Amino acid sequence: MQPTLAIIVPCLNEEDCIMFTYQKLDKILKNLVESNSISQNSFIIFIDDGSSDNTWNLISELNKNNPCNVKGIKFSRNFGNQKAILAGILESYNMQADCFITIDADLQQDENKIEEFIQKYKNGANIVFGIRNNRKTDGFLKKITALAFYKIMNLLGVNIKVNHSDYRLIDRSAVEILQQYRETNLFLRCIFNEIGLKKDYVFFEVKPRKKGKSKYSITDLMSLALSGITSFSIVPLRIVSCIGLFMSLISFIIGISAFWDYYYLKTTVSGWTTIVVALGFIGGMQILCIGIIGEYLGQLFYEIKARPRYIIETKCS
Ligand code: UDP
Ligand code: MG
Repeated sequence: MQPTLAIIVPCLNEEDCIMFTYQKLDKILKNLVESNSISQNSFIIFIDDGSSDNTWNLISELNKNNPCNVKGIKFSRNFGNQKAILAGILESYNMQADCFITIDADLQQDENKIEEFIQKYKNGANIVFGIRNNRKTDGFLKKITALAFYKIMNLLGVNIKVNHSDYRLIDRSAVEILQQYRETNLFLRCIFNEIGLKKDYVFFEVKPRKKGKSKYSITDLMSLALSGITSFSIVPLRIVSCIGLFMSLISFIIGISAFWDYYYLKTTVSGWTTIVVALGFIGGMQILCIGIIGEYLGQLFYEIKARPRYIIETKCS
């Protein structure tokens, strides 16, 4: 009995890509079914993450014409691509899929590698990570910020593979573990590294986006990176404590030296520059530290409310 594959495609305003993406993925699915690699129950599931264009109509139309091969979920509003991927995985799990591949709707990730993912899954991997060979298609700013993000994450002791993408395969056992993570803000790239199980890797080339525009601005990426860091590492908070301790020590030494000046040297008027520089530095450090603590408080704020991670408005299956 061959495994049932679910290909999960998050979509935000992808009306220009859906049809083309469907045709490509459908061809791959059919070839894999023909070569007896996957079951003929395998399907593609599109998650409309609150699009304001024609995306949902196109998904419903595809579902109407191919109800067995195409499924759809429509969110009530935009919840972000991580939530769309998560919803796709959980819904396909309930539809009895055996393995799950997530891929972007613009097919920037090389869809022809799907066969290799399946091969590695069949060789026993529970999670197969897609790793980008390079970042040729990224602009300068995106390249630099992505590099900084992976460097910071590794320095903070977070286990994340450089250039790892959301193009990956997981099996049912990985989904069962994922279901035990109850946090609202799931940063999937780290979670799949954390849950253990047998891992493997597929390396792929990133193609330029053919149609439509990128849905990720630099601020979106920064906020994703910050939420990744603050939900996986408390090292920045420790650094804040260490800075606090260090500053107190320095202030203590400066205090003693000030007393010394006042009582013995009587040169208290000089040193103006030192005071101004020290005040500015300490003030800046304090604000930075409060900011870091604030980031963690923000995470707690979202987690404590435990609101639904996403709201499904309608489905077609
Ligand atoms: N996406 C989504 N919700 C969002 C932003 C993006 O579902 O809030 C989807 C988008 O439709 C695409 C994938 O996530 O399928 C990756 O987005 P995009 O290609 O715009 O990102 P980039 O490749 O530029 O990093
Ligand atoms: Mg893209």
